[in-house]
Amino acid sequence: MNYRHIYHAGNFADVLKHAVLARLIVYLQQKDKAFRLLDTHAGIGLYDLSSEEAQKTGEWQDGIGRLIEAELPEAVATFLAPYLDAVRTLNPAGPIRLYPGSPKLARVLFRPQDRLSAMELHPDDCRALSRLFEGDYQVRVTELDGWLALGAHLPPKEKRGIVLVDPPFEIEGEYERLVDGLSRAWRRFSTGVYCLWYPIKKGAPIAAFHQALKDLEIPKMLCAELSVRSDRETTGLSGSGLIIVNPPYTLKEELHAALPELKRVLAKDRFASQRCFWLRGEEQA
Ligand code: SAM
Repeated sequence: MNYRHIYHAGNFADVLKHAVLARLIVYLQQKDKAFRLLDTHAGIGLYDLSSEEAQKTGEWQDGIGRLIEAELPEAVATFLAPYLDAVRTLNPAGPIRLYPGSPKLARVLFRPQDRLSAMELHPDDCRALSRLFEGDYQVRVTELDGWLALGAHLPPKEKRGIVLVDPPFEIEGEYERLVDGLSRAWRRFSTGVYCLWYPIKKGAPIAAFHQALKDLEIPKMLCAELSVRSDRETTGLSGSGLIIVNPPYTLKEELHAALPELKRVLAKDRFASQRCFWLRGEEQA
């Protein structure tokens, strides 16, 4: 387990993932009833962008660093508001130094009745995450393989919830594991909202991954992708995607407006691209 998210916190991929996660949380909060977020690969929860590690890559500067300064059309600003307001809340003095990972973002947005179960397998990262939420009765941090949580921790006792699956993709076969994980989880909790993250880079088996997801025959599955550069000359991340199961009914329309703006703000070259479509749903691709 070599992956450490501090090197990537706040980058363009975090921006898309966290903007959508915040939107999903606000969607579930339309009802008073409590819900639970199961975060299977949680990280350390809060990232210091002035740290040596974050400074070394500087990835956040081309992610949240650009977006927080950007002029946006009103509808897109409204869509991004839960996410960007949470980031601003953590940085009241102005310039961004603290960036919320998925657990902290959720916690900033939570009402008193909402709950978080966060899994993190790296012992040091799990310790840091536990420290962050020490004494917080709304959060349970567990040092556990997140793939196991997709069985044992579902359905949540609240019977409403979001499942975020955000693995590091540092070992072979993570696309297949995502498909298998979703399949197992959905059989136990078919009304849950799921958000799965995956990388886009040279040679990534995206078409086969999408086909395998389609074959699961889960009725409502939306796909959103944003690439900030060509994948031809680089072996690193050129983009990232999200699979959202049981999305809010307005999400596709919102992403249709937001993704072109995110592309405009975050693009690294002229090959930047975006798309949003139903993998399974009313108007299947
Ligand atoms: N979800 C976090 C966020 O949005 O802020 C970022 C998570 S980062 C991409 C992936 C995390 O998964 C790393 O902190 C890594 O240590 C952890 N990890 C790796 N394998 C794991 C596993 N099998 N179960 C749980 N956590 C794992």
